[in-house]
Amino acid sequence: MAPTDLLVVGAGPVGLACAIEARRHGLTARVLDKGALANSILGYPALMEFFSTPDLIEIGGHPFPVTGYKPTREDALEYYRMVAAREALDVRLYEAVEGISGTRGDFTITTSRGPHHARHVVIATGFFDYPNRLNVPGEDLPKVTHYYREAFPYAQQRVAVIGAKNSAAKAALDCHRHGAAVTLIVRGPALSDRVKYWIRPDLENRIKEGSITAHFNTGVEEIRETALIVRGPDGRREIPNDWVLAMTGYHPDFDFLQRLGITLADDGVKTPVCDPTTFETMRPGVYIAGTVCGGMNTGRWFIENGRFHARQIVAHLTGTAAAPAMPAPGHWKTEE
Ligand SMILES: Cc1cc2nc3c(=O)[nH]c(=O)nc-3n(C[C@H](O)[C@H](O)[C@H](O)COP(=O)(O)OP(=O)(O)OC[C@H]3O[C@@H](n4cnc5c(N)ncnc54)[C@H](O)[C@@H]3O)c2cc1C
Repeated sequence: MAPTDLLVVGAGPVGLACAIEARRHGLTARVLDKGALANSILGYPALMEFFSTPDLIEIGGHPFPVTGYKPTREDALEYYRMVAAREALDVRLYEAVEGISGTRGDFTITTSRGPHHARHVVIATGFFDYPNRLNVPGEDLPKVTHYYREAFPYAQQRVAVIGAKNSAAKAALDCHRHGAAVTLIVRGPALSDRVKYWIRPDLENRIKEGSITAHFNTGVEEIRETALIVRGPDGRREIPNDWVLAMTGYHPDFDFLQRLGITLADDGVKTPVCDPTTFETMRPGVYIAGTVCGGMNTGRWFIENGRFHARQIVAHLTGTAAAPAMPAPGHWKTEE
């Protein structure tokens, strides 16, 4: 069977954008995902609203109409599903990529279901499957989660939220408003300056009035069935507790990237090394796209700017004129 021109690993917004762009330039493309379509978004808080307006997270030029101002998780799931269907993309789901052998023009991609052959490969695997762990005893107790879904399980419960960024702030407020007794535990002296300007005062006022308890400069040392052991300015103390929401961020699967022959920079955030214009890695014919490009700096690339990687990569593959300049990377306008 003839190899696919472009095999994309990851059916998130950016992976789908790459396949659409390739097809529009006359290339064949296939997308593989270890989970469902837009699997990361599927795992976001059930009732979340994106920070971006819909036009900023459209792909392939397909309009993204929503009735509200910002799309919800469900809006986005339906939109990306509809775009993949409209484009008749060759998407294979629940098929995890395990390795890539061969060289540019002749790659064999091994998956949980069998081999695929491709001339070029794009890795668009995001970061959402690997939480940044606290590495403390008790972290694997069933009461601990790194993925916040919704507040209702926590009504009338003592909930500790660990973290200082948007996800922690939103989870703390949401649980508080749904009847939980919330304690926020922050390693540093203050909330992150990335907390959105409309979320920060809400949380600060709840802390000030005492309806949410906050411990700053405080680290978690141990999680027990009915308590947390923390160390802060007043020394070691025990906080009675039923549930722990560890909102400490996520990171790409670095072992996977290295197994594929992708070099990680020694820059403190393990940025995958690639040509900044073409997104080709040090392994010729293998490209990276989307959030994964930022390494530990998961706020550098998001849907708004990551979707444009597709143009850069396909311009390189087809030898067409350089794609229009990328929007500058920077703080994502979204949560982490
Ligand atoms: C709560 C929250 C809110 C956000 N809000 C916004 C927002 O408003 N605006 C914005 O621009 N961004 C937002 N983001 C960030 C944005 O969602 C991500 O940056 C975006 O999903 C990145 O898209 P991607 O295609 O690069 O990666 P992902 O969407 O993470 O897709 C990666 C895909 O790769 C698959 N995969 C991983 N490993 C393998 C493998 N070995 N084999 C096969 N498949 C694999 C995964 O299953 C997944 O489907 C938000 C993030 C969070 C967590």
